[in-house]
Amino acid sequence: MPKPISFDADLLFVESVGTGTVHIAVRYEAHHLAEDEVTEVVSGGAAFVALSISPTVTRCGKRTFPQFERDHVKTTRFADERLCAACYRTLVPEDQERAFEHDTPNDAGAAC
Ligand SMILES: [Zn+2]
Repeated sequence: MPKPISFDADLLFVESVGTGTVHIAVRYEAHHLAEDEVTEVVSGGAAFVALSISPTVTRCGKRTFPQFERDHVKTTRFADERLCAACYRTLVPEDQERAFEHDTPNDAGAAC
């Protein structure tokens, strides 16, 4: 069963450059992580390093490193049909609405 994404988390769109498919990842606010795990396990500079190198895991189970890779890039503008169906299916209806809160290529044309 899908679980709702908490309100202090952001949806993050990660485009697979090779296929053009846009996957969905969830990014939690830093304080969320700090309370739960990071301060318990490591501290100071080590905590920052652990956070910055941890992979982004998409809803369909892919691990990506958008901050290092060239195969996966963060995106905010893409056509709806490029959204990964497997990722989309993991969302509850309220979160599925949030998945469509992104710019589409058509928006750019209208602005010109
Ligand atoms: Zn996916």
